[in-house]
Amino acid sequence: MANYICITCGTQFAQTSQAPKSCPICEDERQYVGQGGQQWTTLPELRQGHHNRITQQEDCLYGIGTEPRFAIGQRALLIQSDQGNVLWDCISLIDDETIEKVNALGGVKAIAISHPHYYSSAVEWAQAFGVSLYLHEADRQWGMRPDPAIEFWQGNTLELQPRITLIRAGGHFEGGTVCHWATGANGAGTLCTGDVIQVVADKRWVSFMYSYPNLIPLSADKIRRIVEAVEPYSFERIYGAWWDAVVTPEAKASVRRSAERYIKAIEGSA
Ligand SMILES: [Zn+2]
Ligand SMILES: [Zn+2]
Repeated sequence: MANYICITCGTQFAQTSQAPKSCPICEDERQYVGQGGQQWTTLPELRQGHHNRITQQEDCLYGIGTEPRFAIGQRALLIQSDQGNVLWDCISLIDDETIEKVNALGGVKAIAISHPHYYSSAVEWAQAFGVSLYLHEADRQWGMRPDPAIEFWQGNTLELQPRITLIRAGGHFEGGTVCHWATGANGAGTLCTGDVIQVVADKRWVSFMYSYPNLIPLSADKIRRIVEAVEPYSFERIYGAWWDAVVTPEAKASVRRSAERYIKAIEGSA
């Protein structure tokens, strides 16, 4: 028996005696099955040739990413807080060295994930630290490894603690979530967005897609909803899903103007 991991999206599945036949997350039109067909690995196998790098991003914020790159290649973020650290988004590889280093940074009190592409081995992480894993109810069908650690939350916001709030923005996924960290960016506020709000090559801008690999856009209504969801929050900085995906300063203005530019383009007046 093993918990197989899809090598294209990095999602870990419930225990089975043989590898699952397919990965529903990769068969969905927002992802893709790799050219050689569906392939799997396991945590023990992944630990052979990969390790995690932990690098400070700013005061009380650390990135955790796997090297060499695995699957979608996102890095997680560890937000340090007096009320317990929050792990935002997740990666497939977890090993003793990572657990030790994270514990040295104060451990983990809760894990929250933006959307199913980063569910990765989050259940394994939740078990390792003995904490709850917060996923939005609207994406329940994409959970490939059911576990008592998972808390499906409902509605549009969830305050994990006084200055760390989950905001459901939708868009890329029905339950697409971003995380507002009010004390980030020296108190100006930080938004951690995964790829629900995607930091693009020109770091003054962001974008929004239904599928990134297959370039399927979102409707104007869905983009307006994302902008409205984050409107009540102050933030100067955005951390996207990758190491260099950072918008700063004026990140909130960037979301507004990027949405305007996008809507103009899809409505035919660009
Ligand atoms: Zn997959
Ligand atoms: Zn995604």
